Amino acid sequence: MFDALMIEKEGAAPAIRELSEADLPEVAEGGVTVRVCHSTVNYKDGLCLMPGGGGLVRHYPHVPGIDFGGVVETSDHERYSPGDEVVLTGWRVGEAHWGGYAGMARVKGEWLVPLPEGLNLRQAMAVGTAGLTAMLAIQALEDQGLPPGEVLVTGASGGVGSVATAILGAMGREVAAVTGRPEQEGYLRDLGATRIVPRAELAETVGRPLESEVWSGCIDAVGGAMLARVLGQMRHGCSVAAVGLAGGPHLPATVIPFLLRGVNLLGIDSVTKPYEDRVRAWGRIAELLPMKKLEAMVVPATLEDVPRLGAEILGGKVRGRVVVDL
Ligand code: NDP
Repeated sequence: MFDALMIEKEGAAPAIRELSEADLPEVAEGGVTVRVCHSTVNYKDGLCLMPGGGGLVRHYPHVPGIDFGGVVETSDHERYSPGDEVVLTGWRVGEAHWGGYAGMARVKGEWLVPLPEGLNLRQAMAVGTAGLTAMLAIQALEDQGLPPGEVLVTGASGGVGSVATAILGAMGREVAAVTGRPEQEGYLRDLGATRIVPRAELAETVGRPLESEVWSGCIDAVGGAMLARVLGQMRHGCSVAAVGLAGGPHLPATVIPFLLRGVNLLGIDSVTKPYEDRVRAWGRIAELLPMKKLEAMVVPATLEDVPRLGAEILGGKVRGRVVVDL
């Protein structure tokens, strides 16, 4: 028997229930059952925990939790054997499939990756989808050449932003961190930020599509008017990795930065990244992300805390990364 945070029907509040392995969903082929040690709270978890499941959850009863790290109990997949340590992010686990807010989970083996060398399961969940996505965004910028100069990180005190700031800082990059929380300046500078940009400076659109060229790259977790402003401030030929929509899904921009400055807008989708790309990104996280900085981001939590933290993350009130112990 194990505890799970369950949403029993659409609109119901999540509640802790006792389940057994027999309650877990069947996986037709290549299924792996994992004893979950840790999960996390990402922005998308906040959406799934909302009444109505944020439009992401389709079937009830549902166990949310888009990430988990744990130990293989049984495996019908050739890559894994009992006792292996594994990590899951993406593949709509926690949305369309039961997720990580439970003592056990059963998923397709092809969705898992082995725990990267150099990280333990708790550290892997401190990274989670948000941190993996930060690394994928950095790699997307690198693939476009990422020239020297300042890299802008928006939503910097959040999960994606904190990990992006720490990794870019460890890479020796100048990092300009955009935050709406001035009290987080010390936290962001400790992670690696070299400049703090108040959110208000980028919060509203201006009448003109181009401003002074400032940024050599940008990792944008915010979208909306901020992304539109940033596009007009990119240096010639430089790229923005569009990761999130914490400030809204609309993009009130013009095409002028693309046409007159050759700016690139790169879409980042962490959910369906192929296995080899995930393994490569996790390997680079283990190599680049200083573990002391990761630890400074961690907000420890239990299953009982998850509904509250889900509401807080949607309100932009969580700093860094939540690690849920199971
Ligand atoms: P967090 O809530 O941890 O971080 C978002 C941060 O954005 C906040 O901490 C806050 O930072 C800032 N923010 C919040 N509200 C606003 C607002 N109204 N206007 C401007 N800034 C705001 O979430 P995550 O880091 O987990 O996720 C960030 C985004 O990335 C989400 O939209 C999420 O859905 C998306 N995402 C996308 C993925 C993909 O595969 N494309 C994967 C993972 C996440 P501060 O207080 O410092 O300003």
